[in-house]
Amino acid sequence: SERQRGEHARRSEAMDRAGDTSELRRSSRRAYLEKRKQRKVEELRGEILDNEFVFGDVKQTDAEERELMCKKEIYGLVKGHSDQEAGAGDYYRMPDAYDAAANVDQKNRFLAARRRHDDGSEKSKASSEQDAWEEQQISKSRLQFGSKDREHAGDGYELVFDDAVEFVKSAAMAGTEPEDDVTDELADEIDAKVTLQKELQDERKTLPVYKFKEELLKAIAEHQIIVVVGETGSGKTTQIPQYLHEAGYTANGLKIACTQPRRVAAMSVAARVAQEMGVKLGHEVGYSIRFEDCTSEKTVVKYMTDGTLLREFLGEPDLASYGVVVVDEAHERTLTTDILLGLVKDVARFRPDLKLLISSATLNAEKFSDFFDMAPVFKIPGRRYKVDIHYTVAPEADYVDAAVATVLQLHVTQPPGDILLFLTGQEEIETVDEILRRRTRGLGSKIAELVICPIYANLPTELQAKIFEPAPPGARKVVLSTNIAETSLTIDGIGYVVDPGFCKVKSYSPRTGTESLLVRPISKASADQRAGRSGRTGPGKCFRLFTEHSYRKDMEDETVPEIQRSNLASVVLSLKALGINDLVNFDFMDPPASEALLKALEDLFALGALNCRGDLTKTGRRMAELPLDPMLAKAIVASERYGCSEELITIASMLSAGNAVFYRPRDRAPVADAARQRLNAGNAGDHIALLNVYTEWEQSGHSAQWCLDHFVQPRTMRRARDVREQLGALLERVEIERRSCAGDLDAIRKAITAGFFRNIAQRRRDGSYRTVKSWRTVFVHPSSGMARVEPPAGWVLYHELVETTKEYMRQVTELKPEWLLEIAPHYYHNNN
Ligand code: ADP
Ligand code: MG
Repeated sequence: SERQRGEHARRSEAMDRAGDTSELRRSSRRAYLEKRKQRKVEELRGEILDNEFVFGDVKQTDAEERELMCKKEIYGLVKGHSDQEAGAGDYYRMPDAYDAAANVDQKNRFLAARRRHDDGSEKSKASSEQDAWEEQQISKSRLQFGSKDREHAGDGYELVFDDAVEFVKSAAMAGTEPEDDVTDELADEIDAKVTLQKELQDERKTLPVYKFKEELLKAIAEHQIIVVVGETGSGKTTQIPQYLHEAGYTANGLKIACTQPRRVAAMSVAARVAQEMGVKLGHEVGYSIRFEDCTSEKTVVKYMTDGTLLREFLGEPDLASYGVVVVDEAHERTLTTDILLGLVKDVARFRPDLKLLISSATLNAEKFSDFFDMAPVFKIPGRRYKVDIHYTVAPEADYVDAAVATVLQLHVTQPPGDILLFLTGQEEIETVDEILRRRTRGLGSKIAELVICPIYANLPTELQAKIFEPAPPGARKVVLSTNIAETSLTIDGIGYVVDPGFCKVKSYSPRTGTESLLVRPISKASADQRAGRSGRTGPGKCFRLFTEHSYRKDMEDETVPEIQRSNLASVVLSLKALGINDLVNFDFMDPPASEALLKALEDLFALGALNCRGDLTKTGRRMAELPLDPMLAKAIVASERYGCSEELITIASMLSAGNAVFYRPRDRAPVADAARQRLNAGNAGDHIALLNVYTEWEQSGHSAQWCLDHFVQPRTMRRARDVREQLGALLERVEIERRSCAGDLDAIRKAITAGFFRNIAQRRRDGSYRTVKSWRTVFVHPSSGMARVEPPAGWVLYHELVETTKEYMRQVTELKPEWLLEIAPHYYHNNN
């Protein structure tokens, strides 16, 4: 192992020579991990795939590393009990290939060894096998922390973290555990030195869907529409499109589309499938998400967000380039998925050659079948182990604190197994990430290493890949995730789920016309899905940070479909652009409230996208071409009139690039604030600040140093640049002249007002604001540059509302009230 480590160090150093030399100073392990991460990026970009030598080398390293990891793990497991078994070395397997059998296998072998060892002793009679196993695992992990005294080791850790959360185990979700039919062949097979490709192919075969491949293909051949149902992780998303490709569904030059509700899922799954097929991402397998098209002429398997497919309808109403459409994660019932379901159902009627698969994780399958005229349901039997559910004894006042405490508590007391923590969004994830780092940093070797992996929509691709990497030997991984890991992404090796029971949901009030993102309790169905994530590769445990009472009494059974709680303006605009005028009779699976439809029509009328007969206007047609919220789209279209289209697309791309433009390190907060203050340019407002940031960054030659000096996230900027390029191209398509107003801030703010005239609030004496027309009490978000402006602005325009402790306006700009009369006279009337 020393030799291998040396080898790793040498390799990474060799790779380093060409690159950043400061990394040479790090330990070889760190450098190696760093390199691995970078390599993932490059792999994803498909940049080094052409270089066979480098790539071949890399594969080898990965396999070696994993093998080493396994050996150590197994050795540690049997040490002191049966050295024979350890020495024999006849069973070890790649952690990636862990499957049901493997775990049972290990456990049984261990227990057998232990029985032999302990035979006749009092102790072994006292505890059940499960207890013995757990006890052994605990002491093993404790020993790794360097404690000499096993008996008292536990106390020490409780002192390390004194804010423990108390749980009661209440119930267990039934599991379907496989028989212990472990054969030596399996062990032998995995024993063999295999290449990454072989390994991946083997892994594919272990997925539940594999056994049903032929049957599934037969069903697809016989029926036009099929509903596929299977537990998350059974291989629906990654495997079925490959089966279809192998079976010749792409031979006729047609593509397979597979839609995902989330960007991250589309990208990550496409990367995985490209890897499995041994092709470069963007060639045969690609993905297409808003503002990012990673496909080519060659692409036959195309992962995309449901929104992207909806936009493709605009250019190709019969989806002529697709032979199969898989509407995946249909159970999520996102707004766009629901609209898509209606559209593809219609297309299927006049395109009998089109195959349609509706794929869902267990819930609600019959409903899909009903909607598609009794389409057959193909069930992939699940594979799930037992999951113990623990509830808190009393409600937790602060779920973030409780979550942190629980993660640390699990880390020091529980046997190996990674932890998955569900949080509501990027900000929360970043906070928890920071707290966990801070609290584990000082402890050094007192506890085992905790590898923290965040995952959320705006996370850069290179870091997204990290969640799938196994933690180094002796360390434990904790994944901090939004809802995305609930069903869209499957991370292997999760043994523990920590569930605070909240998620961020879009909520819309047609009465007031306000849409906001609110943190709300999840449904029972979601809570059970989340718990199930811990039982994929072995028995799991789920720690719910709420009481059993609130699970039973407070939580809804199912999540309300998004279509019934969203602003429909965007989809109505798309449907109108598709020529679908009779919205009331559109085939909705769950029709939205007619009130909400009406409101959407009114809003689009107010924006000038529809005329009084409800037909699309020229402005509306242009807006529909821009993949943006109608209000933002309108602001861009209106910028033509104010001569500031260049500025508006910059602002729009900064707004679309994600929230994390600035960062504020705690230890350098005053410096960061000063830098920020300067970019705010005399309190001109957040939109103008975003414009300034982009302009200065561009003038610096897109410099990373500039970002560093100004506490700006370089990756947000790079993304904004990509988005901006595409918006620029779209401007040309809708024939809006690209013009700059050269610093006329009022022109810019008027264009914004033309889109956002409904998002206006007026200041009250107590410092809060009241939204005009809907009369809600709102506040300037503390992250806004306008939060500390003196004197405070009397009238403001906001981009969006978010509710945390209070209802906050995010991205705020001052405006003059008389502009409203000038720009939106149909909406605002002068009362005087
Ligand atoms: P389903 O769609 O039925 O939920 P998937 O096809 O997404 O299942 O997942 C099948 C397997 O592929 C899982 O074991 C998962 O861990 C693995 N997998 C999926 N995406 C990736 C990825 N990007 N990297 C590594 N493994 C992945
Ligand atoms: Mg899936």
